[in-house]
Amino acid sequence: MPIEILPLRVFKDNYAYLLIDNTNQHAAVIDPGSAGPIIHTLNDRNLNLSNILLTHHHFDHSGGVKELKQLYPQAEIAIHKEDAHHLPVACDLQLSENNTLYFGTRPITIMHLPCHTRGHVAFQIENALFTGDTLFNAGCGKFFEGTTSEMLNNLQRLKTLPETTKIYCGHEYTVENLEYAHQADPDNQNVNNRLKTSQIAAAENSFLVPTTLKLELRTNPFLQLDNKELQQQLKTDNETDTLTALYQIYYGETPSP
Ligand SMILES: [Zn+2]
Ligand SMILES: [Zn+2]
Repeated sequence: MPIEILPLRVFKDNYAYLLIDNTNQHAAVIDPGSAGPIIHTLNDRNLNLSNILLTHHHFDHSGGVKELKQLYPQAEIAIHKEDAHHLPVACDLQLSENNTLYFGTRPITIMHLPCHTRGHVAFQIENALFTGDTLFNAGCGKFFEGTTSEMLNNLQRLKTLPETTKIYCGHEYTVENLEYAHQADPDNQNVNNRLKTSQIAAAENSFLVPTTLKLELRTNPFLQLDNKELQQQLKTDNETDTLTALYQIYYGETPSP
């Protein structure tokens, strides 16, 4: 039986995720920004928390860790070794690239994607990828602790995964990101179509996760840096300059090279 993945809304626009093994009622949580909604669902579903996985150290992804660890002392906290020192609690596992973690007997692989923070990781389990604040629906996270060339490397790595990979991101920014994508590449019909369907889904308060890598490759400009039409719109001729120009549209500032 594949694991069940349950997205939970935390704060205004954060997603936390529960991985649930329905054969033994064990659960793992990814990015519990706040403990309340996680504890509520664990109690409601009669689940036992075995793992706490953090894509990075920011408080909106890790703020619930201390309370969860007090309630579920057996749950192992895992975060990349370069982000671990930011946590208010000791972590059990300090991760590096290519480490494998286990949720029960199921392997979770780690991709180290430094830039949003030094120790940002994506977690991959079965065909699901949890991208935190590195890759969003139709967007890309801020380069708080890294450079354009690091993010370019991260984006190029993500593009090599199978197109069927399901992407679970850290924030619900789909509609605003598609508006920026439309601004960057007004003639891209895939972007315009996704913007329309996303506006309807968002108005109904639906969760817009997961997406697929296939859809992101068509509609996320950060995964189309080599696209000639996009480059023409942005008056660039290489991936680095295209990434810089997109960042300026999305965030109104110039990132460090
Ligand atoms: Zn963050
Ligand atoms: Zn965040």
